[in-house]
Amino acid sequence: MALVSLRNVTKSYPPSARGGAPVVAVDDVSLDIEAGDVYGIIGYSGAGKSTLVRLVNALEPVTGGTVTVDGRELSSLSERELREVRRGIGMIFQQFNLFDAKTVRQNVAYPLKVAGWAKADIGARVDELLDFVGLADKARAYPDQLSGGQKQRVGIARALATRPSILLADEATSALDPETTQEVLALLSRVNREQGVTMVVITHEMDVIQSLATKVAVMEDGRVIESGDVFDVFSQPRNAASERFVSTVVKGVPSPAELAVLRERHEGRIATFSFRDGDASQARVFLELAQAGLEFELVYGGINDIRGRAFGHLTLAIRGEDAAIDGALARIAELVDVTEAR
Ligand code: ADP
Repeated sequence: MALVSLRNVTKSYPPSARGGAPVVAVDDVSLDIEAGDVYGIIGYSGAGKSTLVRLVNALEPVTGGTVTVDGRELSSLSERELREVRRGIGMIFQQFNLFDAKTVRQNVAYPLKVAGWAKADIGARVDELLDFVGLADKARAYPDQLSGGQKQRVGIARALATRPSILLADEATSALDPETTQEVLALLSRVNREQGVTMVVITHEMDVIQSLATKVAVMEDGRVIESGDVFDVFSQPRNAASERFVSTVVKGVPSPAELAVLRERHEGRIATFSFRDGDASQARVFLELAQAGLEFELVYGGINDIRGRAFGHLTLAIRGEDAAIDGALARIAELVDVTEAR
């Protein structure tokens, strides 16, 4: 059985004091997270991502459906049992949520104290954690003496203190610059590989999914509209709504505004071709266009790399007889995905 299993999970909030309809934040979501997964949850702001994570964390009860963590169905548990489940789940946040008046050492020791660990064990465990995150020399520093990346590393050490089997990360790198983001992602990747910690990672950043996640779920309006292997979901989204979101985060797909500019600058019909690792069909695409007597020009494009597998998008302006273009595009559509901008 999956480590975390959601079945037809719904969470609605009552209407606000000013009236209106209830807010359905999570709507009939079923999802299985296996031990060892790094599961990315992505989607526009307001899609229900944070709410979903609070349900897994047993911070809030579901309105419908079931959440099972490590074989225990949360709604059947007592408050004491829920606390036990929560102890097996670490959490890190965008704003780090450190105690400003405590040193790094005290921050990391805090959950161990709460869990009732003996003093000597706490000391040894904190040393081990600070070593692991590379902050042994900052033990006596206060959070405001640290950089953003260092603060998040303290957050990670604190979240891992009681040896949870699951780590939830809510936009954990969104407040960091790109270079620091990469450092923190590398650390999280080690946490997963070396300590076998299963992760659920909420993000709106492609970098995070690309370098960390093994699986991904795309949320919209409370629903999971697509989920599965990261490469599959990003290189070939199966439905229009997830394609719309994915095209905003992957490289090489022109936005509607960019398409308008391309159309102004280039004559001809504009089409985007999507290539996946192993297709080996770029030459075939160019050949079809050339054999149809068409002229074409590369006007936009980009390659994405997901754990060594590549996919990309090329946008061409194509000039020639309409019928010849139609014929060539139809033949090419048998090889790769083609989207013509109208
Ligand atoms: P995301 O994390 O994807 O940005 P959220 O889970 O925060 O989305 O929110 C999903 C929806 O649920 C939003 O419409 C939000 O306003 C609503 N919502 C979230 N938490 C509450 C709450 N405690 N009370 C009422 N509405 C809420």
